Amino acid sequence: MAKRIQLSCTGDSDVLELTDVAPVDPGPGEVRVANRAVGLNFIDIYFRTGLYPAPALPTGLGTEAAGVVDAVGEGVTHLKAGDRVAYAQGPLGAYGELHTLPADKVVVLPDGIDFEAAAASMLKGLTVQYLMRQTHRLEAGETVLWHAAAGGVGSIACQWARALGVKLIGTVSSPEKAALARQNGAWATIDYTRENVVERVRELTDGAMCDVVYDSVGKNTWETSLDCLKPRSLMVSFGNASGAVEGVNLGILNQKGSLFTTRPSLNGYADTRERLEVMAAELFDMLESGKVKVDIAQRYPLAEAGKAQDALQGRQTTGSTILLP
Ligand code: NDP
Repeated sequence: MAKRIQLSCTGDSDVLELTDVAPVDPGPGEVRVANRAVGLNFIDIYFRTGLYPAPALPTGLGTEAAGVVDAVGEGVTHLKAGDRVAYAQGPLGAYGELHTLPADKVVVLPDGIDFEAAAASMLKGLTVQYLMRQTHRLEAGETVLWHAAAGGVGSIACQWARALGVKLIGTVSSPEKAALARQNGAWATIDYTRENVVERVRELTDGAMCDVVYDSVGKNTWETSLDCLKPRSLMVSFGNASGAVEGVNLGILNQKGSLFTTRPSLNGYADTRERLEVMAAELFDMLESGKVKVDIAQRYPLAEAGKAQDALQGRQTTGSTILLP
């Protein structure tokens, strides 16, 4: 038997239960991974609360982990038992000692990247890769606004922006988070609990505003974000930490300056093994070169996944959180 976190109904973090389950043998095209470290992500909370419906209940939770391949299904050629690997996509169930998933979602880890760093950066780092290199290919000198700049995705984004020569203005909710974001490479920060975000962006950019806004907060920040953009520039809405953006009147994009908008996801970009491998190689280069250092600010035993989620949801965390099976 193997331990895993599962839920039988959606709700608060107390719906998460540590259970013993029989290991699932990998079918054709699948592998089973013995997880050494599991990544905690806001998307796990969306599934727990029901904002994103799980395919069935009861269900496992989590999509990101790093570990060792312990069984390989028929037809899998790029992985073998004993390989050090990481993954950030696939069926729910990464919160556990063992997880069986399609081999196409799993990549081999370079020797220089340990399990904890991988679990703390696969989903978040691949997200920054597609947002900064594909959704819009940022150029040195461009200015962007990035919400939740001291968070998991945000901490990687600040460092990646610095490496690209991009001026990242990060929003945060405290002076401590502001200091952390600047230390990670944010060009400037705005504490939205004390400052007016649009006015500060106007001051910081001498009235020019931003080339791209990356907004993972959603409902609470949608209009503010649009007001921080240059005419004809791009609003990237990629998360719902405060709730989903709903009922948008498309005319608002006209009123705010003929803006463009997109609502992307990692699964939409890393949708083939080839694309995932290219994205992962770029992330691993950033990690191995030291341009991006993963900040694992919180570690919890797997059994305390609920407590870890409460801290993430309650804005008490910075950087990445991992769960240890
Ligand atoms: P974070 O570590 O960034 O935590 C969320 C942060 O959002 C908080 O620390 C807080 O920072 C800020 N926040 C603002 N308003 C709220 C609110 N109402 N409730 C809670 N937090 C709030 O989480 P992750 O790094 O795991 O994820 C960041 C975001 O990126 C999430 O929205 C997630 O869904 C999204 N995401 C999207 C992906 C995609 O492909 N579309 C992939 C990966 C992540 P502060 O206190 O400074 O305001």
